[in-house]
Amino acid sequence: MYLSLVVPCFNEERGLQRFHDALVAALSEHVRDYEVILVDDGSTDRTLREARRLAAANPRFRYVSLSRNFGKEPAMLCGLRHARGDRVALLDADLQHPPELLRRMVPLLDSGYDQVVARRTRSGERRWRSLPARAYYRAARRFTGVRIPDGAGDFRVLSRRAVDAVLALPEHHRFSKGLFAWIGFGTAYVSFRDVPRRSGRSKWTFGALVDHGIDGLTSFNAKPLRSSIYLGALVVSAAGAWAVRSAWQAIVDGSWPSAGAVLLVGLAGMGGLQLCFLGVLGEYLGRSYFEAKRRPHYLVKELSPELGADVAARR
Ligand code: UDP
Ligand code: MG
Repeated sequence: MYLSLVVPCFNEERGLQRFHDALVAALSEHVRDYEVILVDDGSTDRTLREARRLAAANPRFRYVSLSRNFGKEPAMLCGLRHARGDRVALLDADLQHPPELLRRMVPLLDSGYDQVVARRTRSGERRWRSLPARAYYRAARRFTGVRIPDGAGDFRVLSRRAVDAVLALPEHHRFSKGLFAWIGFGTAYVSFRDVPRRSGRSKWTFGALVDHGIDGLTSFNAKPLRSSIYLGALVVSAAGAWAVRSAWQAIVDGSWPSAGAVLLVGLAGMGGLQLCFLGVLGEYLGRSYFEAKRRPHYLVKELSPELGADVAARR
């Protein structure tokens, strides 16, 4: 069995050599036949140079370099497309996904699973950090109906048919965690303790996390649209109830609400409602806009010689 390892890299020049050493040591006699595909996601540092050097020194290492930074999702997609293995592993370049774990994950595929997912235990994490994440996964489960377990990231090993299934999903806005859950097949979980990044910085800003979260919620169905209808109905009925009560009081004991209160409730209700609807509508509109354009997910700038030959042969 041949294993391909897909590694998205964005500005990882400082950690790539260490990643290489750790991976080679971890796989040594446990996994013999493998290739590593480093996907340089338009790094602005010397990641590409490092990738070239590693590929020249170790024939198992290949690289693809994208024309600019497209994000981790497109980078993973690119790697998956170039992977030729019977099995494909996805892991980060920063050693936050311990390569030793592959020794436990790969044998699970032998026993018939199509996906083996590494789950991070949040044991080391502070409550205020893990609480929103848990709440998010619960909401995602409710909204999308697709079960994304908390702590399950992109670290996983897939069988060939699982990879082909994911590659057959053409959508532009990709939320891999959801796509992997959507394709189904037998899935096994392996837990590991969270480890800090070895070098460089995390590329997730707060804004990027929120964006990614919205992608996750809206890429599977239109339930958020429906929920905005409910929310709108709630706001309108609350405002309506308040109006009826005020009118009743005016009739019974002649006490009118102040003009200010009326304005405030009316404005807040209507404003909130419209913003909600506009946001949700815009979300779906934007999504179909991008899907309709059918632009490629990424552009390739440079390929290591083996991968280049492979692409030429497939044409
Ligand atoms: N990454 C990427 N493109 C990006 C951002 C990140 O290829 O635009 C890669 C990055 O090099 C790393 C992996 O995705 O190998 C995970 O990124 P990071 O460590 O920043 O995320 P975190 O571990 O903080 O969730
Ligand atoms: Mg990381």
